Amino acid sequence: MSATVPSTSSTLEHMLSKAHECSLEYTQGLRKRPVYPDDAALRALSEFDRPLPEAGRDGDAILEELHRLGSPATVATTSGRYFGFVNGGAIPVAVAAKWLATVWDQAPVFFVLSPTAAKLEDVCEGWLVDLFGLPAGTAMGLVEGATSANFCGMAAARWELLRRRGWNVNTKGLYGAPSLRVVVGEQVHGSVLKALALLGLGSERVERVPVDAQGRINASALPRLDETTLVITQAGNVDSGSFDPLEEICGAARSANAWVHVDGAFGLWAAASPSRRGLLKGVQMADSWATDAHKTLNVPYDNGIVLCRDRRALVSSLQARGAYLQFTEGQRDGMLYSPGMSRRARSVDLWAALASLGRTGVAEIVDRLCERALLFAELLSAAGFRILNDVVFNQVLVAADSEETTSHVLEQVQRSGVCWCGGTTWMGERAIRLSVSTWTTTEEDIRRSAATFAEALGALR
Ligand SMILES: *Cc1c(COP(=O)(O)O)cnc(C)c1O
Repeated sequence: MSATVPSTSSTLEHMLSKAHECSLEYTQGLRKRPVYPDDAALRALSEFDRPLPEAGRDGDAILEELHRLGSPATVATTSGRYFGFVNGGAIPVAVAAKWLATVWDQAPVFFVLSPTAAKLEDVCEGWLVDLFGLPAGTAMGLVEGATSANFCGMAAARWELLRRRGWNVNTKGLYGAPSLRVVVGEQVHGSVLKALALLGLGSERVERVPVDAQGRINASALPRLDETTLVITQAGNVDSGSFDPLEEICGAARSANAWVHVDGAFGLWAAASPSRRGLLKGVQMADSWATDAHKTLNVPYDNGIVLCRDRRALVSSLQARGAYLQFTEGQRDGMLYSPGMSRRARSVDLWAALASLGRTGVAEIVDRLCERALLFAELLSAAGFRILNDVVFNQVLVAADSEETTSHVLEQVQRSGVCWCGGTTWMGERAIRLSVSTWTTTEEDIRRSAATFAEALGALR
């Protein structure tokens, strides 16, 4: 048997051209294939079920198999007609930059492990603080996603609120610590509750504030805030796309010395659009923010962003020590800004996207997604559906006249292959949930998808 452990670097060159070939074929077929894989493609996945081989095979055979079995059973989230979750597609320059960074294989744990990645992280920090209109000096960390970014922002809050009470939570933990209060809206995202659980703050020990018909925190119903309170707000409700009234909440928190964290996984990008940034009024008064570059900005996955006004709080809460660690004074050591140590160089594709789009390009992506969502709502409404939310961003909630019909339509649409979306329960009612979050979605894609809804409804009548 030939050895399958590579012996020369020319193997890499060959494998990259093979990957290039498969990628091109995949991309070229994307608009012609069903958005959700068909049954044959799903059944074929069982070919992967076999024991770990004794002897390996060469790389060509491996990539061919991945492409033959894996590619057809992917969900075509980048195709333009995928509306299932707030995913975002991936803009070409960011995919390509990520590919180059994969070849570099850099781990931005320390400046000394990757000066390039460290520099690009610094640059992205400055650019994003500017783009989002946040206070100068705000710190940024690149993490896996918004769950992780929420976790980091809330870890910084926990560290700082307890420090002000004379308590070092890093060394003493929460045993015997002064207690903290956590205030959330009724429609808080599950990732926030998960982060609270991980931080020992308890997902059920929260004070829940009632919300309005769009899922926004009712600011006049906020409990009395104080200097032990962490208030968690939302910029972009995962169902309705609505934004909490940040100005009022942050104003109340300011005067009480409470900490405000904003979960802006996809909505924080509204700041880039002159016509939509009003949704975020007051956002700069918060203390920490979480967002995803892999959602609205359309950078490949694994690109979460935490931002924190108080650099010391963020860095202190994410501490780790070791004799062998090598920090560089005056340079960015990425591990100080993320829960992990080793990770991929996320700054490379993030930087490429921002540099290539520029301020106006980011605004255009945001506006385009919002306009396509409005068009979708308009067409569905004309086709006899009810739109359950005010379409202020990229989210549309749809229902037919009965829950049964709504569920039937959803099933038909999911089976159609033309587009894909999911369901939710909105204010106690079964609804279809549409997220327009991919740069590739054209008006034609929206029209074709809306026609599929209309056909599904027509078939039931
Ligand atoms: C997507 C989303 C999250 C979770 O983000 P991940 O990157 O998937 O971890 C959190 N909050 C909101 C509002 C979201 O839309």
